Amino acid sequence: MLEFRSVRKQYENGTVAVQELSMSAETGTITVLVGPSGCGKTTLMRMVNRMIEPSSGAVLVDGTDVREFDAARLRRGIGYVIQQAGLFPHRTVLDNVATVPLLSGCRRREARTRAAELLDRVGLPADLGRRYPAQLSGGQQQRVGVARALAADPPVLLMDEPFSAVDPVVRAGLQDELLRLQEELGKTVLFVTHDIDEAIKLGEKVAVLRQGGHLAQYAEPDALLAE
Ligand code: ADP
Ligand code: ADP
Repeated sequence: MLEFRSVRKQYENGTVAVQELSMSAETGTITVLVGPSGCGKTTLMRMVNRMIEPSSGAVLVDGTDVREFDAARLRRGIGYVIQQAGLFPHRTVLDNVATVPLLSGCRRREARTRAAELLDRVGLPADLGRRYPAQLSGGQQQRVGVARALAADPPVLLMDEPFSAVDPVVRAGLQDELLRLQEELGKTVLFVTHDIDEAIKLGEKVAVLRQGGHLAQYAEPDALLAE
């Protein structure tokens, strides 16, 4: 379980990005943070992998304060997918994914086999593995980003507007794939979006944030729709 316990964040310039906020994301589910730009979604997400420290309160992973982990070890257990997939431009698609198992000590061949399996899993045809990122469409690059985030087999996956830069039809396909993948892998996913329809489609629980970092609602999508 992922838990935000009375978390508050004020940046050095005085901006309060997150008001005192408490919520928890169940293990093996998709929890969505939704709200307009600037309401603190990214700040919350980055507190989980300690790219940002809370001003007060704590973030806990399976009951342990993230500050108690070695940061590098913590991040190995947390996949992170962002809007611009952030792929290495000078490595092939396959090697972008294979890098992760290589870094954790896999042999080259084994790493590549694993990377190929992951690319298949996220629905990319095998021959695309030989291309460079710039030779893929935006939606395909996002799939590679997801495959790379999954490569370390992390129990937790942070997804920050991963599908926002692709056109609506492709986005719907990516959402369906994420739901399918989630059913198969059962990760604990924290998913950020500013699109309420996306939140309702993907979230088992949805946290609605308002400007100024207030948690306005935290409920199952059906309950949100009823209001
Ligand atoms: P998005 O609109 O995609 O949610 P933002 O424009 O809010 O993203 O933020 C993009 C990046 O800029 C983030 O890394 C955030 O931490 C940083 N950032 C946003 N606002 C400020 C600011 N006022 N001062 C410094 N950095 C900021
Ligand atoms: P969101 O992801 O919902 O767009 P962010 O978490 O990026 O929101 O930002 C929340 C608020 O904090 C915004 O007002 C943003 O301008 C501000 N902010 C983000 N990063 C910084 C920073 N490094 N320094 C100062 N203000 C920031």
